[in-house]
Amino acid sequence: MAIYSRILLKLSGEALASEGNSIDPKTLDKVVSIVRSALDLDVEVAIVIGGGNIFRGASLAKVGMNRVTGDHIGMLATVMNALAIADAFERNQIASTVMSGFPIGGGVCDPVDHNKAKEALSQGKVVIFSAGTGSPCFTTDTGAALRAIEVEADVVFKATKVDGIYCSDPANNANAVKYDTLSFNEAIEKNLAVMDTAAFALCREHNINICVFSMLDDINTLSNILNGRSVGTTVSQNGDLT
Ligand code: UDP
Repeated sequence: MAIYSRILLKLSGEALASEGNSIDPKTLDKVVSIVRSALDLDVEVAIVIGGGNIFRGASLAKVGMNRVTGDHIGMLATVMNALAIADAFERNQIASTVMSGFPIGGGVCDPVDHNKAKEALSQGKVVIFSAGTGSPCFTTDTGAALRAIEVEADVVFKATKVDGIYCSDPANNANAVKYDTLSFNEAIEKNLAVMDTAAFALCREHNINICVFSMLDDINTLSNILNGRSVGTTVSQNGDLT
C-alpha cells in the first residue's frame, strides 16, 4: 500500500520542454507513465503545472512589459500546458479535468472549485490545476501549496531537474551537499531557491510536507517514493522523515 493516498505534484513548465519544443510530446508521454504508476497504486493525483517553458511575468517585465500583464500572460501559459497534459491523459485513457485559477469559459476549462476537485480526485480522475493562484505576483509553487491545502493533499511533490535540495547549486558547485531532510524554518532561513518562501510558509502552516525530487530521469522514482523509499529531500515541520 502506498504511503500517501492523495498527492499534489508540482511540475515546472520547463519540465515539459525540450530543445526547440515548448511542449515535447515525448515528455508528455513520460508524465502520463509516471502518473499512471501512481494511480496504479491507488494514489489520487492532483497536478499544478507551471508556465516557464512559454512565458514568465518577471522576464516579460525585464523587457519593459507591465508586470501584472506579464503575469497574466504567464498564467495563461500554464493553462496551455495544462490542456496539453490533459490531452495526453485523454489519449492514454486516463480521466482528467483542468481547472483554472481564474475563469476562462468557452468550454476550455472550469474554474477552481475545491469541492469539485476533491470529488473528481476521489473518483480517480487526475485534477490539473492551471493559472497558479489566479493572481499576479505569485508563482505556481505557491499555487501548488494553495491547491494542496484546498484538496487536502498529504504531500506536495516538487519535481525538479535535480535530485533534491542542495546547500548550493550543484550545477555550479561540484562539492554541493544534498540535504535528505530539512525543516520549513531551515528552508526559509537558508532562502533556498528551489521554492519560494510563500510556498514553504503555507505548507508549514498547514503541515503538508514537501518532497523535492527528480522525476523525469527515471519514470519509477515517484512510485518508488510512494512505496516508501526515501528519495530526494523532504521538507517537514521538524526536519525529519515523519
Ligand atoms: N504566475 C502568476 N501567479 C501565479 C502563478 C504564476 O502571476 O499564482 C505567472 C508568473 O508570471 C510566472 C508564470 O505565471 O512567472 C509561470 O509560472 P511559474 O514561473 O511559477 O512557472 P514554472 O517556473 O513552474 O514553470
